[in-house]
Amino acid sequence: MDNAQLGAGSTVAIIGGGQAGGEAATLLRQNRFEGRIVLIGEEPCLPYMRPPLSKAFLAREIAKDALIYKAAAAYENARVEMRLNARVDEIDRQDKRLILNDGATFGYDRLVIATGGRARQLPVPGASSSNILYLRTIADVELLQPLMQAGRRLVIVGGGYVGLEVAAIAVKLYDRGPIFFRQERVGRDGQLFPVYKLRTMVPNAEDMLPELREESRNEMLAFFD
Ligand SMILES: Cc1cc2nc3c(=O)[nH]c(=O)nc-3n(C[C@H](O)[C@H](O)[C@H](O)COP(=O)(O)OP(=O)(O)OC[C@H]3O[C@@H](n4cnc5c(N)ncnc54)[C@H](O)[C@@H]3O)c2cc1C
Repeated sequence: MDNAQLGAGSTVAIIGGGQAGGEAATLLRQNRFEGRIVLIGEEPCLPYMRPPLSKAFLAREIAKDALIYKAAAAYENARVEMRLNARVDEIDRQDKRLILNDGATFGYDRLVIATGGRARQLPVPGASSSNILYLRTIADVELLQPLMQAGRRLVIVGGGYVGLEVAAIAVKLYDRGPIFFRQERVGRDGQLFPVYKLRTMVPNAEDMLPELREESRNEMLAFFD
């Protein structure tokens, strides 16, 4: 961003309260931008580290506060206006205005879009059932944690890092299978990640979903991607 053209009367709006948005906000100030900085984030909390969500935080080894790597004072000192729990629904580029989910509008001179990623929703009937969860946010983990207990069954779809990390914690917390993965990366024979003691590998778990849902009416299905 060309700060030279941005005077003290200018506003930079940042959409997204993840690490990218939070860093952009404070770095702008460190780089001597003197105007108004507004960060609009959909989640209710300050920018936090997502990596521990599928590791120490899921395993309850660290508390929520430990995920927040920069305290509120850092944003206050940098004179960043935090509009948390607010979603930008529309960008009016013509008038340089943001329209928030509560109807509020915000004028800007420059816009930073740091909206990150989302978990891909599972495209199968019944995927909106309350026992089908995704893992992307603190709120997602808080829904999942109480379900991760002995006697329940966890099915994971998505054999990337996040799925594998959750599997490792599940095995640690309650050594019970089966755990299914969808992606080839895991290996059909279960040899690639023997440390996780995965008992069953099914590359195309979607095909089994109706049967699994029927079978596990009172149990948990968790899908991550
Ligand atoms: C469980 C998990 C484990 C991970 N582990 C690792 C790891 O071990 N190592 C690693 O390098 N990376 C890891 N990652 C990836 C890493 O966390 C991401 O790359 C990083 O979060 C990206 O940061 P970001 O700020 O760009 O986006 P995000 O963290 O996705 O933040 C974007 C923010 O924008 C908000 N937002 C979106 N749309 C709007 C809108 N319209 N209005 C307002 N706000 C909006 C979202 O709610 C979100 O808070 C992990 C991710 C997850 C989910």
